[in-house]
Amino acid sequence: MDCSNPECSTEFEQVKPWQRFCQTKCKRRVRTLEKREAEYKAKYMSEYSKGPRFRYNVQKQTAKRRGIEFLLSFNQWWEIWQGSWEQRGKHKDDLAMCRYGDVGAYEVGNVYLDTVSNNSKLNRELQLRSQYEY
Ligand SMILES: [Zn+2]
Repeated sequence: MDCSNPECSTEFEQVKPWQRFCQTKCKRRVRTLEKREAEYKAKYMSEYSKGPRFRYNVQKQTAKRRGIEFLLSFNQWWEIWQGSWEQRGKHKDDLAMCRYGDVGAYEVGNVYLDTVSNNSKLNRELQLRSQYEY
C-alpha cells in the first residue's frame, strides 16, 4: 500500500494490518506519525475485538486455560454463532456456547447455544449433583 504521509506516498509492504506509514522514510523519523499510527492501531483493535475472528481466538484460549479441549475450526464455530451473533454476550439473557452436561470437548455435536443464566443454572446443578455423589 501507499504511505499515508501525503509528502511521502512511498509504496511499502504492510506487516501489521494497522500500519499506514512506510517504515524507512516516515515511521523512523516522524514521531507524530507514530502517534497517529498508534491511534489507527487502537481503532483497528477495538473494531477487530468485536469481530468473530477475535472472539473465536479468545474462546479457544479460555478453553485451553481451563484445560478443555477445543476442536472447533473457525468455520464450524462461526456456523453455530452466525444466526445469533447479536445475542452473544455476558449478561443473563445473552447467549453463550455450552457443552452438553458441561463435559467433553468443544466440538460439533457437543455444543449448543443457551442463555448465560441457563448455563450457570446448569453448572450449579451439576456441582450440587457431584457433591451428593460422594
Ligand atoms: Zn512514508
